[in-house]
Amino acid sequence: MTDSIYDDLGVPTVVNATGTKTRISGSLIREEAVEAMTDAARSFVRISDLQARASELISDVTGAEAGYVTCGASAGLMLGAAACIAGDDIDAMYQLPDTEGLADEIIVPRTHRSGYDHALRAAGATIVDVGTNDHHLGTGSRNVEPWEIAEAITEETAAIAYLQKEYTEPPLPKVVEIAHAHDVPVIVDAAAEVPPTSNLSRFIDEGADLVAFSGGKAIRGPQTTGILAGREDLVESVALQQLDMHAAEPVWDPPSGLVDVDRYDGVPRQGIGRSLKVGKEELVGLIKSLELFIEEDHDALGDEWLNRTNRIADRLSAEPALSTRTTEADKVSIAPEVVVTVDEDVAGITTIDLVRSLRQEDPRVFVGADSLADSAFTVNPMCLTDEEAEYVVERIRSYL
Ligand SMILES: *Cc1c(COP(=O)(O)O)cnc(C)c1O
Repeated sequence: MTDSIYDDLGVPTVVNATGTKTRISGSLIREEAVEAMTDAARSFVRISDLQARASELISDVTGAEAGYVTCGASAGLMLGAAACIAGDDIDAMYQLPDTEGLADEIIVPRTHRSGYDHALRAAGATIVDVGTNDHHLGTGSRNVEPWEIAEAITEETAAIAYLQKEYTEPPLPKVVEIAHAHDVPVIVDAAAEVPPTSNLSRFIDEGADLVAFSGGKAIRGPQTTGILAGREDLVESVALQQLDMHAAEPVWDPPSGLVDVDRYDGVPRQGIGRSLKVGKEELVGLIKSLELFIEEDHDALGDEWLNRTNRIADRLSAEPALSTRTTEADKVSIAPEVVVTVDEDVAGITTIDLVRSLRQEDPRVFVGADSLADSAFTVNPMCLTDEEAEYVVERIRSYL
């Protein structure tokens, strides 16, 4: 709400009352990370050296053998799929996304399917959907039985993809057990699963071969970053497929922590990941943000969000047209939220018009719109300051 580059550009800013959503630019990057990025911008650096350094940090905080900075969790899934399909075969790396003659199937339990599946397919993978949605029938039946995953594994299987959410089943260790019995790797999408910081290492502990996190959500790194943590050989394959490979063979000397040059007959061609470039500034910004994230007091932050949530709920429930309830932080949502139900007759405006109007303001005010069918919207505290929370309350009230 102060003068900013966005004023110069004539682009409205957003007061974010809906949490970390990529389309409204995710989270606000940490100041210290911005400073580190400015510093990073002043020198040339070999990108592979920086990736090797990031790998050490990611390995430290996740317990994985190695790590890689990607341009988002979604890119991490695509690179992970490419690594599982191509392995250390540099000819296969060059061939992707054409998978003719390669094992290219990635098994995904149906209730783990998401829009981010596209990342797997973009690497050339064919998705093999197993299980049902039967849990929703309320009969006690489960969405997917472990045997269904086991039965789907064939010579064509490249990996199993697992979406980590509270509702996903079977538990990851069970899926890992099945996969590893057949020598198949498991790729976990844990994009939004931190905090708690313990989740940085949890899925690796549970046996995942690769885990993708978003760098631009609660970690508050640059928007275009993600973390891929996992097996050394798979991360090496990712590096070979993502780094710029226009290198002169006789002097090709990537850091040994990232690539074991002796294992290859020559320099690979530009890989499928070359389109997923990560710059030195983003790499440094992610490293700095991750260091700060693991030191952060998440309990204090949780208390701050809870207090803000309660204040917002109090202020809004004082309106005759509105009733509120607060949800707790849980495994689906890392912050509590206010669910605001609108009595449209009393309010004199429909919930949809209210939410739409708020978004058309300057600055745009974004509240959560997942419950419009129930005449409700949500207010999320995590991307608001106290001052902004008050502003959001005032803007909502102005329509009633
Ligand atoms: C946010 C999210 C992604 C994508 O993460 P980016 O870092 O924006 O690429 C993937 N999967 C899930 C489940 C997510 O919540």
